[in-house]
Amino acid sequence: MNDQTINLCSPRYVRELMDEFSIAPQKRYGQNFLINDAIPKRIAEASAETRVPCVLEIGPGIGTMTRELAELFDAVTAVEIDRDLIPVLGKTLADKENATVINSDIMDVDIDALTREQFGERNFAVCANLPYYITTPIIMKLLECGCPRLRSVTVMIQTEVADRLVSKAGSAEYGAITAAVAYYGQAKKLFSVSPGSFLPAPKVSSTVIKIDIYPAEDRPLKPKNEKLMFRLIAAAFGQRRKTLPNALSAGVPGLDKEKLLSALEEMGLDPRVRGEALSVAQFAELSDRLA
Ligand code: SAM
Repeated sequence: MNDQTINLCSPRYVRELMDEFSIAPQKRYGQNFLINDAIPKRIAEASAETRVPCVLEIGPGIGTMTRELAELFDAVTAVEIDRDLIPVLGKTLADKENATVINSDIMDVDIDALTREQFGERNFAVCANLPYYITTPIIMKLLECGCPRLRSVTVMIQTEVADRLVSKAGSAEYGAITAAVAYYGQAKKLFSVSPGSFLPAPKVSSTVIKIDIYPAEDRPLKPKNEKLMFRLIAAAFGQRRKTLPNALSAGVPGLDKEKLLSALEEMGLDPRVRGEALSVAQFAELSDRLA
């Protein structure tokens, strides 16, 4: 099998493949397969701009994007939860010797350990057309994995979530995950993809985003107590409608409210401010003042 004989983006071929293996797209796993061949190529190329030798793909499906990634990277490891797709991938990736498929739930995977086992000390990117039911937990897991060799995350997600990830402090979309993304890296929206590019077509539109991850030593923000900063962020957004002092007093046990009020004053912030008005840099500064 070679690129001339396999067109995983042809809806007819996808259906034939499904019939051959007696499978159907599984809604519970968020399976919407790409059938517009320009898209997996564009996503893989955007990921490869990071110039690292290896890539971890989450949810290869029937291998459409995996094949593109295998052309651009020295090594591809793809983690797929659905064991019924493993024999399909055995067929569609048979000619891609640099691609390895692992049958596992990405949420159960130790990213640092798996990538060290697969790629050694080489740097890697993550690239995926993410299942929509679990987008945010997967992105948080990647950001928090603490793996120094992870350099970028290029993912297709719901447009609504993409808007949230790149939003600015003070906007309605801004949330705890926005602050986390801005702390760990630099996110940008690349392009949008219409529902007709998938089989079956999802109900929502999709957007590809790329997060360039800062190496830990180059992060622009270096809070004295990172854990406290994230506790403040979680508490501030856990009760968005409360003022920041009230949300933090309720969400961070043992927090000295007087100290908090004077820290806000020193930072030039109104005590009636809400958490969504603070940038991640301000959360870092606040945590330093409270540490
Ligand atoms: N990459 C393929 C494509 O673009 O056509 C499939 C993308 S589909 C939106 C999402 C894929 O992620 C499916 O293959 C699904 O089975 C897989 N998946 C869902 N949940 C997963 C999880 N927790 N861990 C690993 N893979 C998962």
